[in-house]
Amino acid sequence: MYWADLLAEEIKEKYKAQIKAGKPLVIRDEKTASGRVHVGSLRGVAIHGIISEILKEEGINNKFLYEINDFDPMDSIPVYLDREKFLPHMGKPLCNIFSPDGKAKNYAEYFAEEFIGVINEIGFEPEFYRNSELYKSGKYNEAIKIVLENTGKIREIYKTVSGSIKPEDWLPLQVVCENCGKIGTTKVVSFDGEKVEYICEPELVEWTTGCGHKGKISPFNGNAKLPWKVEWAAKFFILNVDIEGAGKDHSTKGGSRDIADAICREIFKREPPFNIPYEFFHVAGKKMSASKGEGSSSREIADLFPPEILRLLLLGKHYKQVIDFVPDGDTVPILFDRFDELAENYFKNIQNGYKRLFELIFSPEKRKKIK
Ligand SMILES: [Zn+2]
Repeated sequence: MYWADLLAEEIKEKYKAQIKAGKPLVIRDEKTASGRVHVGSLRGVAIHGIISEILKEEGINNKFLYEINDFDPMDSIPVYLDREKFLPHMGKPLCNIFSPDGKAKNYAEYFAEEFIGVINEIGFEPEFYRNSELYKSGKYNEAIKIVLENTGKIREIYKTVSGSIKPEDWLPLQVVCENCGKIGTTKVVSFDGEKVEYICEPELVEWTTGCGHKGKISPFNGNAKLPWKVEWAAKFFILNVDIEGAGKDHSTKGGSRDIADAICREIFKREPPFNIPYEFFHVAGKKMSASKGEGSSSREIADLFPPEILRLLLLGKHYKQVIDFVPDGDTVPILFDRFDELAENYFKNIQNGYKRLFELIFSPEKRKKIK
């Protein structure tokens, strides 16, 4: 059986009560829009996307949500941008920085638009949303309150799950500084149930400096954000996520996913989503690097291939196997040869996993036509 069909079987078993009750399953993935998106990020899109497609084909109602994370601070400047121009903006939320081309709505949108274009071109159609919108619309408010009222327990979770020791006065929240606009530099020092006191620390991080401002502000409606592992759990909670895979680097024992799962369970009192810990996507033997972007962005690779070949690259390997893509080596001719073999097998109607793979490398629309 094809690996994604096997996963769909496991998911159907796990959520049979919810499916029976007619409540749609929520599938989620995300990408931080901090620069040109590396082709490797398409692996998550394809894994979640194919699960969503398979479930839909079987009449199982589901929503595939894809987050453009635009509220994280800018913590590095991609090599292809003018460093001097962006340096003063380091530490600000990505959605509050101007677009490199001066045309897109903001910095994050500039890179998101390109990536969304590629996702749609290869036939996946998730519902896109922006993390900043979730914060600004108040969707995180309840989660922020719960977190600030349970900091002791969260500190304990970090310690038991990963061995990491957080200081006694640690409050897992970062405010957008009212003076300099940076979010990466602020430290919250107190919460009185309504407002938080914070300091914009000059030396909190190495990559930028805070302005020293001290303030008191409501932590709700987009004024502040949770640190990422806590935020991850909060997303499971507020979006009712049922299925969310994560790259192998996050899924190690005691790693970020274990922490997020434990916070989800113990603080938000919700069962964490079904995980799909998937392997790396290497380009020429190297792990992907988002900030370097050396000719291996999703757009550049998508321009080399028809969508079916790119889907074959992403879906042709079991999720537990490394994909090693060598653009100027033999990966490309091998992919085209494999496509031909799969097509031959398909049209001879040989019933095997390859027949299924050939169907799935077509978008749902085109799949109907070849069947
Ligand atoms: Zn500041």
